[in-house]
Amino acid sequence: MKKNDRAGKPRIPKVRRTWTRSPVTKVKESGKVYKRRKSVEWSTDGRDETPRRAPVGADLTKNIAKTYKYCPRCGAEMTEKIVDHHKRKVCPVCEYVFYHNPVPAAGVVIEEDGKILLVKRKFEPYKGDWCLPAGFMEYDESPERCAVRETKEELGVDVELDGLFGVYSGKDDPRTHAVLVMYWARVTGGKMKPGDDAEEIQFFAKKEIPDNIAFLAHRQIIKEFFEIRDSESRK
Ligand SMILES: [Zn+2]
Repeated sequence: MKKNDRAGKPRIPKVRRTWTRSPVTKVKESGKVYKRRKSVEWSTDGRDETPRRAPVGADLTKNIAKTYKYCPRCGAEMTEKIVDHHKRKVCPVCEYVFYHNPVPAAGVVIEEDGKILLVKRKFEPYKGDWCLPAGFMEYDESPERCAVRETKEELGVDVELDGLFGVYSGKDDPRTHAVLVMYWARVTGGKMKPGDDAEEIQFFAKKEIPDNIAFLAHRQIIKEFFEIRDSESRK
C-alpha cells in the first residue's frame, strides 16, 4: 500500500526511456513503413466485422460488473461511480479507481518466400485456430522486447525486428481488450519448433490461409501483409 501513496515525487518508469531511444522507432519514423501503410485501407470486408465464433471464457470486456468485486488494494467491496465520464469500479474505503484499460501486446510478421508464418493455438481462447506469434507485454517490457520474447517462446527462434508493421485494436479476446503492436521480423538463429502455447507452425501462401484465424486483428494483419506484397510485385 505504501508504494501507491502519492506523498513522494512521481517516479519516471525506466521502460519509457528505452522506448524513446528504440532503434525500431527510428525505422518507423523513416517514412518507409508509413508509405506502405497508406496504400492499405482499413478493412470494410463484412467478414472481418464479427468474430468467426464466440470465444470461450468469461467476457470481461462488456460489463465492468464482472471485473473486481473487491478492491485489489484493500479488499473492501467495490462500488460503481462515474469517473472521467465513464462508469468505473471505485473503492469506497481507499478510493482506488479501477481504470479498465486495454492491455498492450506485441507480435511479429515473419515471411519466407512470400508466405507468412502462423502458429496453431494450443489453448483457449480460439484453441486450434491459427494466429500470428504474439503475446501480452510484461510490466517491465518494451513492445520490442515482448515481440522478441514471445517469438522465442512460441517458435524457439531468435528474431531481429525490422520495423513497425502496424498497431491494432483487439476487442474479440475474451480475456481483455488489447492493443497489438506488430513488427516485421527476421529469424537470426535457433531451430524452429512449436513451443509454449503453439501446437503447430506453418508458412502460408495467400491461397493457403486457413479459414480459422483466431482474432480479427490477426485476420486484418494477414490481409494487409498480402496487400503489401501484391502491390510491390505489381511495381
Ligand atoms: Zn480499497
